Amino acid sequence: MSFDLNSLLRPHIAKLQPYTSARDEYTGKEGVFLDANENPFGSITEQDFNRYPDPYQSALKEEIAKIKGVRPSQIFLGNGSDEAIDLLYRAFCNPGKDNVILLPPTYGMYEVSANINDVEIRKVALTPDFQLQPDQILAAADANSKILFICSPNNPSANKVKREDILFLLENFKGLLVVDEAYIDFSDEPSFTTELDRFPNLLVMQTFSKAWGLASLRLGMAFASEELIRILNKIKPPYNISGLTQDTVLAAIKDKAKVDRMIQDILAEREFLKGELEKLPFVQRIHPSHANFLLVQIPNANQVYDDLIEEKVIVRNRAKVLLCADCLRITVGTREENEALLKALSKVVK
Ligand SMILES: *Cc1c(COP(=O)(O)O)cnc(C)c1O
Repeated sequence: MSFDLNSLLRPHIAKLQPYTSARDEYTGKEGVFLDANENPFGSITEQDFNRYPDPYQSALKEEIAKIKGVRPSQIFLGNGSDEAIDLLYRAFCNPGKDNVILLPPTYGMYEVSANINDVEIRKVALTPDFQLQPDQILAAADANSKILFICSPNNPSANKVKREDILFLLENFKGLLVVDEAYIDFSDEPSFTTELDRFPNLLVMQTFSKAWGLASLRLGMAFASEELIRILNKIKPPYNISGLTQDTVLAAIKDKAKVDRMIQDILAEREFLKGELEKLPFVQRIHPSHANFLLVQIPNANQVYDDLIEEKVIVRNRAKVLLCADCLRITVGTREENEALLKALSKVVK
């Protein structure tokens, strides 16, 4: 397939001269730094944060590249995946002209970010078992369809999307195809990062917010061709990842074994919670999960949701979402939390 990234790009972004930070011109660590108007005496905090961080996060990308089997130049780091989503719209979608294809029910930020950027949304529903409708997706697309977002494993449905459907769309969709793998660590499915060299129209998103347990630090990853990553780097705020985040993750990333243990613990709890929920007579359906949550169908889910809050157990009400009637999305917690949920559920559902 011939794919020309520049023909998708908004013309003013192609022409854009990016901001050059003080630290672009001299990258050495030694020196008298009087170039960035920082406070030379240190910080108000115990730990010093007075110097601007590396705008390219080079040390961190080196380590991420090793774990993910990609080159550092194929990695973009954002202030959460949400920043990558927003930058994709701003780079490729002309407001009032271009459109994006979304596949509900799915992650809400694709739609919110499209609306913030005044980008038309074309929706093609998933099937009742939450799989793609590839022919309908292609039929909904036109020359102005710049991005297609596929979330796999999908939020809120928890299933993985059929790989052959995504491959078919990579071969036939004319815009960028984003595969959001926020929950890939909880799935037996291999990442689409292995397909990056084959598909220049592919961008894979992952995050440190879920399996790595770093939601508060705000660190999202995007993997794509060097050319596409260069565009995201060109338009991002120069210092989008704080020094605290870079240093903390760099120190932690060496202990990948700890993450793997936490993933195993979450998967074991997922099976426990699923097993216990199945025993409750009022639970109508538990959708198969490749994520760290379960989508559970219960009669009068709206009422159950409210009653659970009274018991100080907070789940996510998805009852009003397409194809999710009477469904609650329940994050897998610790054994104590899961037992608290089960106890509260049995109390509020008569
Ligand atoms: C949680 C989640 C993310 C993560 O977003 P961050 O901004 O990195 O915290 C991304 N995509 C989906 C589908 C999610 O559910």
